[in-house]
Amino acid sequence: MSNGSGGPAWPPRGEPAATAGPRGGERRPLVAANWKMHLVRREALAWCRAVREGLQSPAAELVVFPSFPLLPAVAEAIAGSRLSLGGQDLHPEAKGAHTGDVSGPQLRDSGCAWVLCGHSERRRDHGESDELVGRKVAAAERHGLLPVLCVGERREERQAGRTFEVLERQLRAGLTGLTGRPARLAVAYEPVWAIGTGDTATPATAQEAHAFLRRILGESAGAAAAQGTRILYGGSVTPENAAALFAQPEVDGFLVGGASLDPGKFLAIIAGCGRAG
Ligand code: PEP
Repeated sequence: MSNGSGGPAWPPRGEPAATAGPRGGERRPLVAANWKMHLVRREALAWCRAVREGLQSPAAELVVFPSFPLLPAVAEAIAGSRLSLGGQDLHPEAKGAHTGDVSGPQLRDSGCAWVLCGHSERRRDHGESDELVGRKVAAAERHGLLPVLCVGERREERQAGRTFEVLERQLRAGLTGLTGRPARLAVAYEPVWAIGTGDTATPATAQEAHAFLRRILGESAGAAAAQGTRILYGGSVTPENAAALFAQPEVDGFLVGGASLDPGKFLAIIAGCGRAG
């Protein structure tokens, strides 16, 4: 994160760290749907239709992360709507002999503005290291994509009292390669024990982790950047628990997996993040 001149390299001077919004005038809420390896084209298009029809002046910025083969169809289906598109992963290189991988330029070419980096299912299924995740975040920035850097402790790490150590290590490593643009990184706190389990973090647990992450962001990037960076909560978010989590001052929105597959539930979670006035 250092630019060699002693000051934080990110965000670049004079650039905003995030879009303005109702959260203290600093951070616009962000709600993202992570479809994981779900849905085929027909189902994806039906989802897009239902969500477009159901959106009522959301206060939040909205992103959908489909699997790679669905990106062009979803890009077309959400064109002109309030939804943006994101990829679930990217390779650190721009091109090359990396069978099965997808690059930043390919994501941009498919209509993506965002990309997930370091989701715990990638760390688990593909052995992604903190160092690799940092290179992915840097690649996202290089190719004009907005990264959502995912961090979170495993159950045994929390039980061993190592939560903050893990979060700090993952966050600092994820930020290592950032040099300045686009200065609109989002962080997702996703405790691994809460993902897909129904075992949602309590609002107090989420607030504590988010406040800690924002403190580390401040140390790395400066107070203004930390205050402007959206920190999302992810892990068994539902329409029932979203409003209480969002009521926490450090919770700036959600990365939603399972519940996002149901347009009605996704819309209800968005509504839990308030309406534009
Ligand atoms: C996720 O995949 O990022 C996630 C939070 O999943 P779920 O909402 O199903 O726990």
